[in-house]
Amino acid sequence: MSLVDLTAAQVAQAVRTGDLKAGEIVDAVLAQARATEGTVHGYISLLEDYARRQAERIDRADADTRAGWALAGVPIAVKDNLTLAVGETTAGSRILRGFRAPYTATAVARLEAAGAVVIGKTNLDEFAMGSSTEHSAFGPTKNPWDPDRVPGGSSGGSAAVVAARSATAALGSDTGGSIRQPAAFCGVVGLKPTYGRVSRYGLLAFASSLDQVGPIARTVEDVALLLQVMAGLDPRDATSLDAPVPDYRSALGRDIRGIRVGLAAEYMDGVRAEVRAAVEGAVRAFEDLGAQVETVSLPHTRYGISAYYVIAPAEASSNLARYDGVRFGYRAEADDLYSMYTRTRGEGFGAEVKRRILLGTYALSAGYYDAFYLKAQKVRTLLLQDFRRAFERVDLLLTPTTPEPAFRLGERLEDPWQMYLSDVMTVGVNLAGLPALSLPAAMAGGLPVGVQLIAPWLGEERLLAAARALETVLPRPAWPVVAAKPEGGRGA
Ligand code: GLN
Repeated sequence: MSLVDLTAAQVAQAVRTGDLKAGEIVDAVLAQARATEGTVHGYISLLEDYARRQAERIDRADADTRAGWALAGVPIAVKDNLTLAVGETTAGSRILRGFRAPYTATAVARLEAAGAVVIGKTNLDEFAMGSSTEHSAFGPTKNPWDPDRVPGGSSGGSAAVVAARSATAALGSDTGGSIRQPAAFCGVVGLKPTYGRVSRYGLLAFASSLDQVGPIARTVEDVALLLQVMAGLDPRDATSLDAPVPDYRSALGRDIRGIRVGLAAEYMDGVRAEVRAAVEGAVRAFEDLGAQVETVSLPHTRYGISAYYVIAPAEASSNLARYDGVRFGYRAEADDLYSMYTRTRGEGFGAEVKRRILLGTYALSAGYYDAFYLKAQKVRTLLLQDFRRAFERVDLLLTPTTPEPAFRLGERLEDPWQMYLSDVMTVGVNLAGLPALSLPAAMAGGLPVGVQLIAPWLGEERLLAAARALETVLPRPAWPVVAAKPEGGRGA
């Protein structure tokens, strides 16, 4: 076993006891990044010097201090829409060119305070808008299992580097599936916590009522470990929840005999055969573990995409108004203020972001507000009631994460509607604010297939316990061997 195969839990344990130096694991993971980035391109920036300095700080600490760090020496990759007070924060956009954040996002700062080492910022669809990481101003990330395929998105860089082992674990953000869908495409575990469980302070806002920060890792235990450190009230984010943070790791060992799992009927419509087979495998595994599986109905599921693609662009159109060339990053040359604004935005934003701003502005404008935005909010309530009713009968829901495994690069770029449809299984969870996790459940044709577990609000313990139990019995893929190719060729 090579150092880069170690899980976050294993690294932290070995660094705490002094069996492994933070400097050794950080060097090994950086070397893996150099070997695989030419193919994968999961990073926008690698922070080699910063990472080495942090590793030295950890190795110099006295044994008692080190023993208190939950994530001692764990190399972490951070999605580049989370701020770090070092290097640039780009959100995958030209419009932030040269932007250096004055502070570090709370989620990242908490990981660092627990001994984690940030080694780089990962690629994403511009401002997290997309499902393939192809909408990045820095060029697409490739799926480590098959570089002709997308890693999913928008946290595609984070999921890809965890699968390629050029990071031990990573942070993503999930507005409509951006942690879970790439986790499924890359064969790793991704958790979208309850809305408000993790602070959004320092997360570049896309749709504020949906956005949530969460971990991506190779095991359920690692995801629990990262959540443990990040969760909890942050006075800097008024939407962060003032609810006690349970001991997630101790929840992992819980017996799941007797839990009731609902198979969501509407989520099985139109899914590909290999995805259906993966869900059926998970059903059998649950039954073997002593859970009771029954079919439940979430009748408004099919309206989820329509509601999401009104609400998310509406909020985005407002959130992105701040990028005007005055305060952040890129500024176009112009003779007067008005043309400076329009040129900056015209040159700085990519096509997908412009499409969302147009959609959102339209949906919010006088005359259309009732027809689109208000209607979508009503649908949001119906979706929420669907989940509430289902959770009166069952403890957890089981669904596919995506209708199909990773698609080919370029395949969906010309047809935004087809791209949006890849989020059909994930957006409902964000509209309802629920926690959900994607777990690798099978391999099909050399590609991983994920299943999704959904829990009631603040049901992370239950979610993690069930995922951990499933993980022990489901087939676990060997990690992909990424063909080395020299780095380069990234058009910015
Ligand atoms: N793919 C969805 C979108 O394009 C979700 C993105 C996300 O969760 N950030 O909006």
